[in-house]
Amino acid sequence: MKKNSLFNSLRFKSWSYFVLFALSILLLLQFFQLIFIEPFYKRTLRNEIRKLNSAITDIYFTEDEEVDINGQINSLIAEKNACILIYNRDNGKSVGYDALGEGDCAIYHESVVNHDIIDQLDESEQDSLFLEGQLVELSNRDVMVYGTKYTNEEQNYLIFANFPLQATNYLTETMQSQFLILSLMVLGLSLLISLLFSRIISEPIVSITNEARKLTYGDFDLHFESSDINEVDQLAQTIDLAASEIEKVEDLRKELMSNVTHDIKTPLTMIKAYAEMIKDISGDNKEKRNEHLDVIINETDSLSKLVNDMLDLSRLQADAVSMKIEPFDLSTEISKSAQRFQSLADKEGVTIELDCDPELIAMGDHSRINEVLYNFISNALKHYGDDHKIIISGKFVDKSTIRVEITDHGTGIEEENLPYIWDRYFKIDRQYRRSQAGTGLGLAINKAILEDHKSNYGVISAPGKGSTFYFELKAYEVN
Ligand code: ADP
Repeated sequence: MKKNSLFNSLRFKSWSYFVLFALSILLLLQFFQLIFIEPFYKRTLRNEIRKLNSAITDIYFTEDEEVDINGQINSLIAEKNACILIYNRDNGKSVGYDALGEGDCAIYHESVVNHDIIDQLDESEQDSLFLEGQLVELSNRDVMVYGTKYTNEEQNYLIFANFPLQATNYLTETMQSQFLILSLMVLGLSLLISLLFSRIISEPIVSITNEARKLTYGDFDLHFESSDINEVDQLAQTIDLAASEIEKVEDLRKELMSNVTHDIKTPLTMIKAYAEMIKDISGDNKEKRNEHLDVIINETDSLSKLVNDMLDLSRLQADAVSMKIEPFDLSTEISKSAQRFQSLADKEGVTIELDCDPELIAMGDHSRINEVLYNFISNALKHYGDDHKIIISGKFVDKSTIRVEITDHGTGIEEENLPYIWDRYFKIDRQYRRSQAGTGLGLAINKAILEDHKSNYGVISAPGKGSTFYFELKAYEVN
């Protein structure tokens, strides 16, 4: 087990992951900004300078005489913070407009717009030219220059526009400082949200853990408060379900212990008592001795039946017994089973009535079905009614199904007990005579066998009126 340190707590983990997440988003943002801001800014600037260039060309060469050419160009370049050079290719004269102030307009420098560049633009097929960087020697200012050609009927012109580029550095710096503030704010916010978030997640889990801890000292009465999180509610439900299952197993274990100890202890006490009686009293009296030995033999029989039933049931429930499903004569099995109980029935003055269709050929494991019949009939013989009669019937429900019923008109079973009689060690009345006492396993064994046969089985019972236990088997059909 790991140590219960704070760093392993759900609260700390969710909190730290959240902060880590926010930090990585911030870093990513910063990284992309650094990579993309410059090219993005330059692209925007290129578009701007292109637009400015064409707007200036439109104004300068307008045929409308009322237009105040100089005024319009000056206000445009002031707005865009640019300078312009219009160069007449034919007479070598140039006109300049400058909103940048002294020395800042790169295109006025011979080193920038020199004859090489003019020739370059002249010969270019694109009719335009871009220059970027520290174009002016001894100046550390970055600029962007864009030149285009313009020809009217009379003259050839080259129009150059110039933007300063220092703004990129300013922009990056501004964004950097903004980013710092933004990072601090996001970090603070993410800390707050993560604290809240981790609390929302961890609190219900902590309360579930505290509640579930009760299980360790045998308290199965758990109460979970519902939360806003489905998964947490599902966890609570699962623990609740597990707790009630553990409680059932625990009850069963207690019941089992008390039943087994009772069922084993009683015959053992009897055997010991009668053996002592033989030793001390009846040893020489043959009649008495035989009587006492009979008791010992009966008790030993019931003990070995209990052990056999327990083994049988655990093997059946562990699926360790493989059923041999084959056609067998069910009517013969029914009458053989009835025959086995005949002497006991005679002793009790009970009539066993048989009511079977002829030719009942069923599909099943005949020795296991025999066991089922044995358990049902022996129960009916323990619970017969005033009419001293039990009826065993075997009939076709339709041509593919056979239904067997074992009916008595005795005590019947209360409705509230009906769901439990198939459970092992369940006995409604523990007080009936010891000679009749069963192991409490008969119906559980029948249930396991019949379920292995995929049989439809059950009981119809009313207190005071009697019970009919039934099961159905597939009939053997000859094609
Ligand atoms: P047992 O060995 O006690 O008979 P079973 O598993 O065969 O155990 O039966 C479980 C319980 O179901 C019995 O203890 C009895 O209370 C009830 N039961 C079974 N068969 C009948 C019946 N024919 N009439 C009334 N109660 C019955």
